[in-house]
Amino acid sequence: MKFSKRLSSLPPYLFVEINRKIAQKRAAGEEVISFAIGDPDMPTPSHIIQSLQEAAAEPVNHRYPETAGLEELRSAISAWYLRRFNVELDRENEVLPLIGSKEGIGHIAFCLIDPGDIALVPDPAYPVYAIGTTLAGGEPYYMPLNEENGFLPDFDRIPAEVIKQARVLWLNYPNNPTGAVAGLDFFERAVDFARRNDLVVCHDNPYSEIHFEGKPPASLLQVRGAMETSIEFHSLSKSYNMTGWRIGMAVGNREIIKNLTTLKSNLDSGIPQAIQQAAVTALESPPEVVGRFIDVYRKRRDLICEVLEDIGLEVKPPAAGLYIWAKVPQGYCSAEFAASLLDQCGVVVTPGTGYGQSGEGFVRFSLTVHDAVLVKGLSRLGNWKNDKNPFKAKTK
Ligand SMILES: *Cc1c(COP(=O)(O)O)cnc(C)c1O
Repeated sequence: MKFSKRLSSLPPYLFVEINRKIAQKRAAGEEVISFAIGDPDMPTPSHIIQSLQEAAAEPVNHRYPETAGLEELRSAISAWYLRRFNVELDRENEVLPLIGSKEGIGHIAFCLIDPGDIALVPDPAYPVYAIGTTLAGGEPYYMPLNEENGFLPDFDRIPAEVIKQARVLWLNYPNNPTGAVAGLDFFERAVDFARRNDLVVCHDNPYSEIHFEGKPPASLLQVRGAMETSIEFHSLSKSYNMTGWRIGMAVGNREIIKNLTTLKSNLDSGIPQAIQQAAVTALESPPEVVGRFIDVYRKRRDLICEVLEDIGLEVKPPAAGLYIWAKVPQGYCSAEFAASLLDQCGVVVTPGTGYGQSGEGFVRFSLTVHDAVLVKGLSRLGNWKNDKNPFKAKTK
């Protein structure tokens, strides 16, 4: 059999080695505790499940849905954006439900990228921005996110000839994996840069509702003029513990939304309507629903940061999102350090390089670990005071 060149252009899967080790340890009866998974451990709230069950019993929801999504859902999304961000969206032209935001993030490249085109992609980042670009025949240009620049890209460092070929600027704040939050001043600069250079801004915003301090994170669409050049991806996955139901949305510029709708109408047949009904219920939930999850994540964040600092790792508690981006001790690279945590503590973390070269020097801890498991994992780390402790070299 011969498979497409497109497929062989996909990057090698970086966690092969770690997954092999996890499987080996589990087969040997060892309990492995994973801080590597970014998938809420708490169940979908029961009022949302109930509306899903009721909608599933309705024969009208047993037939093909429409690509554009239920009007009721598009209304609920636009009402939610108005309440939450004070952003007005026309539900007919500026809102498109997705089969999880990942689906739209992958497919949008086929609307915006031709072979040879460039997409400006942050590094480190959620891998789908670059993968969609590559599958569409384009090339990612990586913008490093460093601690010194607050994990924000520096547009002035992008070469003019790259900008000339670029079509798309990808952004994601609150950021996975670094935990950075961007203010409206940065979004203004990004929109201005995009308008001057005729770029589409794709902002991925699934973590806006999981925030721990100060003002809630912004939407890129709050910036004046953003609607002329941008779309924002959002999702119910992280806010309402709905990763398993696959429901998200793209909102923003109507030309972009129209083209994504056209593409999708040729590829998929929409989102099961019962799930769309459940999404309406979720978006109409009182803020306390997410508030309860935030309280749980905040406690976990503080616990993890405390233990990591105790054993000598440098961390900055994130103001939003589901991840702690911790610096590995000097003398280690991310992959080595993750491997030694697994070997010596049976604890799995994600090496920063899994998200791009600029993730070197960091590992990611996720807050989506069930409390009891988390406590056990942290006590393993805390007790790890033998000679093998690589933190010691640095701290003691
Ligand atoms: C989880 C995640 C998504 C995907 O969310 P779905 O709506 O479940 O597809 C997109 N972007 C980032 C950065 C994520 O971490």
